Amino acid sequence: MSIAENVALVRENMARAAREAGRDPGEIRLVAATKMNDADKVRQAIAAGVDICGENRVQEMLQKHSQGAYEGAPLHFIGHLQKNKVKQVVGLASLIHSVDSEELLAAIQRCAAARGLRQDVLLEVNIGEEASKSGFRPEEISPLLEKMAEFPNVCVRGLMAIPPICAFPAENRPFFLRMKQLFVDNGRKKYDNVSMDFLSMGMSGDYTEAIACGANLVRVGTAIFGARDYSGK
Ligand SMILES: *Cc1c(COP(=O)(O)O)cnc(C)c1O
Repeated sequence: MSIAENVALVRENMARAAREAGRDPGEIRLVAATKMNDADKVRQAIAAGVDICGENRVQEMLQKHSQGAYEGAPLHFIGHLQKNKVKQVVGLASLIHSVDSEELLAAIQRCAAARGLRQDVLLEVNIGEEASKSGFRPEEISPLLEKMAEFPNVCVRGLMAIPPICAFPAENRPFFLRMKQLFVDNGRKKYDNVSMDFLSMGMSGDYTEAIACGANLVRVGTAIFGARDYSGK
């Protein structure tokens, strides 16, 4: 299957999942998770109509960016971001999905302020409360949103999660539903520098489940590009 065929299939599945949930398919955006796929493949995905490109690694993003890989699509950063790499991402990625600590938020604030811009971010929630994963605990979200007035060069645009690895997509439903609840609850109140617009969850194995539970950004890699080749990397 070509990348174009894969994107068409993912789109069909997304639309069906949306309709089954009584949602408008047009409100859900497809982020191509492009890690380990070269500029040519990224261009094919954009030509096939993915809405956004999402990169995981800063060096890889800079390299592909210098090759013009993302022309025609917004670029998001979806991987774990180290504080010392913030400078390379702020202003380049229109949305950073993976803000997982207050220190990282502060680093983004400093960098965005120095450049006179405002950086959109999502707060990553460790929804499975796994020791191996980064992200805020669900109960940390509301107190942090209250403090966002202290971060005038950042805007929190929503929440992101990577639920625990499980054998069947349906097992993730409780996590996705908890995320949806957290998203709705925290979206009710008005905070400075917060606009709860995006709920980023769902990957190749479970994006239809995530859509059923309220995701409006899904991050799909393997189902678009095929399995990643980790040999020799
Ligand atoms: C790689 C990656 C994805 C996509 O994973 P697939 O299973 O290949 O669809 C989504 N989100 C993040 C944060 C990733 O690193």
